[in-house]
Amino acid sequence: MSNNLKDPYERRINYLRISITDRCNLRCRYCSPKEGKARLGHNDILRYEEILRVVRIAVSLGIEKVRITGGEPLVRKGLPNFISILSQINGIRDIGLTTNGILLSQYGRELYDSGLKRINISLDSLKEDKYRFITGGGELKNVLIGLKTAREIGFSPIKINVVAIAGFNEDEILDFVTLAASFPYEVRFIELMPFHLDLNGRHLTCEEIKNKIEASFTLRPLDNNENPLNGPAKIYQIENGIGHVGFISPMTKHFCHNCNRLRITADGHLRACLFSHEEINIKKELREGCSDETLRSLLMEAVDKKPRERNLTTFAYRQKSCQRDMNSIGG
Ligand code: SAM
Repeated sequence: MSNNLKDPYERRINYLRISITDRCNLRCRYCSPKEGKARLGHNDILRYEEILRVVRIAVSLGIEKVRITGGEPLVRKGLPNFISILSQINGIRDIGLTTNGILLSQYGRELYDSGLKRINISLDSLKEDKYRFITGGGELKNVLIGLKTAREIGFSPIKINVVAIAGFNEDEILDFVTLAASFPYEVRFIELMPFHLDLNGRHLTCEEIKNKIEASFTLRPLDNNENPLNGPAKIYQIENGIGHVGFISPMTKHFCHNCNRLRITADGHLRACLFSHEEINIKKELREGCSDETLRSLLMEAVDKKPRERNLTTFAYRQKSCQRDMNSIGG
């Protein structure tokens, strides 16, 4: 496989995250604007065939890992068929999907049979009322059933993403670790990123969370923690436990130097950094009948413009540069 996707800072870009929809069946407080947002029309989002065309070219350039995200990917019709075609593309070594899990009991089997084996499920509270609060009305039991279904079907790994929010779920940190100790899950605590101002000041650092856990559990780092291909999470074995816990620290530990990601937004823009406003509109090119060569050049141009690093430590950054929400970029 050729590997032209190296950015000016010698980072090898081999991971493509694709937001297939901006729509979501939840309204998480740190993700969606309070006032709601106009949804994109059907014609505004990339068609599956368009995404597949871009992916084939991206793979020919060196992309090996793909993650489907959103919005909530399970609300888009035709997802199993899309995954089935995606999984047949030669050169893709790994396909993952990030979901809130609400519809997983309904679609899990079909997704698994179409070739998806790894799944990340977002879950910020194990208490019904708090879950309803943070998700703007979601029912916890649906996610728990989805989680159990995913385990029974055989998805592996199953990763649970917990956005850590001070004064909200910090009293549940040990409950989440107990969940990971009891089942084959990897529970990953994620530092809250400054997308929405109403949670300003509610950050918890991964160091604080880890200290809290280590007062009750013994954690042993996995050997491959420093391998950039394993992503930004630092993973630990829980002594006498079945699963793992992980820490993702976008606020306190920059992982830009290891960043291997490129994104396609739901409305067809290439984006090389979650927090940069630099984007390339590929939907326009696709719909104007561009050649594969043009798409190849645009992918290379996006990688070429990947910033060396971003400053995520102030809300000013978000206000100045990142006018999109997580659900349209794809978390
Ligand atoms: N709907 C799917 C889900 O809930 O997993 C996929 C999209 S969601 C935007 C992807 C991930 O982004 C979730 O794990 C969510 O917790 C994370 N996320 C969104 N906003 C965030 C923020 N402000 N800080 C940290 N993580 C965030």
